[in-house]
Amino acid sequence: MKMCVDMADPPVYDNIFQYMVTHYQDLKRSSPEEKFWVHDLEDNQYPHLNGEVSENRVGFSSPEEAAENIRDLAGSMGVPLIGFTKIFPSMVFKGAEVIGEYAVVLGFEMDLDAIDTAPEPPAGKEALRAYWRLGIMVQKVSDYIRSLGYEAQGHQVRTFIKDPPTVLYPIAGLHAGLGEIGMHGLLITPELGPRVRLGVITTELALPQGEPIDLGVQEFCQRCQICADECIGDAISRTRSVERGHFKYTIDPYRCLPQFARYDGCGVCIRICPFNRKKEDMERFLDGVKRLNEYFRLHPEKVPRSV
Ligand code: SF4
Ligand code: SF4
Repeated sequence: MKMCVDMADPPVYDNIFQYMVTHYQDLKRSSPEEKFWVHDLEDNQYPHLNGEVSENRVGFSSPEEAAENIRDLAGSMGVPLIGFTKIFPSMVFKGAEVIGEYAVVLGFEMDLDAIDTAPEPPAGKEALRAYWRLGIMVQKVSDYIRSLGYEAQGHQVRTFIKDPPTVLYPIAGLHAGLGEIGMHGLLITPELGPRVRLGVITTELALPQGEPIDLGVQEFCQRCQICADECIGDAISRTRSVERGHFKYTIDPYRCLPQFARYDGCGVCIRICPFNRKKEDMERFLDGVKRLNEYFRLHPEKVPRSV
């Protein structure tokens, strides 16, 4: 079993995460669906995050061929977003042991109408539903890779609740080329904006490296800043700094996570982000972002505000 132990600049799990986990668990999951999702995540999915590896190893002619196999399986399960990356130290929490040197990153959509209610309970319920569906997908992809004769380890929300977190999902999505990180610290994807939950499978199976994409998010965020204005925890920084090897905005977990726990996932920063829109509108919106960025590059004096 190969472990990724090179953690030169890892995210750190500390008391504030433990506080959030404890309070998040205390929330009432009153509806029968929510009770079922929690039960399924904890009792059925969690034990499958690790498992037996087949002794009959299937060979692949290239990392791309291996990725195609996994992509086909994910497609048959209705996974909307999938990407591949090597594991970088910035993706793995300090002290966590992660199997393998490669990662599959899966993204699952949350319902627009439900997220529009954030921070009210329907948004939190939708986040839980997405984590539950995503957990099934993570479990199936992990099982599949193991059936091919390679070590694989699933990482989804229940890993976070039962154990200290292992993988920082937005950074994994960034490396896998699924999107860009916004001012709110979330992955913004070209297909679903920030309205996405992520899961990861780490593995020793060699996989290709995703290409970074440029949607113009970083430039747009400098003028927008709506999430920093509206954040109910006043947790979002308007200035960027190098953090874990990435030039990004900083979210103060001591301000965000208590709200996250109090409001069952909060989600205000997802709801109000202009990139949160209907799937069918995304292409047009991204084109508008590109044109706006070009315009303000040519006319910096017209920029309404900037950081
Ligand atoms: S989840 Fe809520 S508290 Fe946390 S950054 Fe987003 S809006 Fe702010
Ligand atoms: S709300 Fe605005 S500033 Fe915040 S991530 Fe979305 S686009 Fe960027």
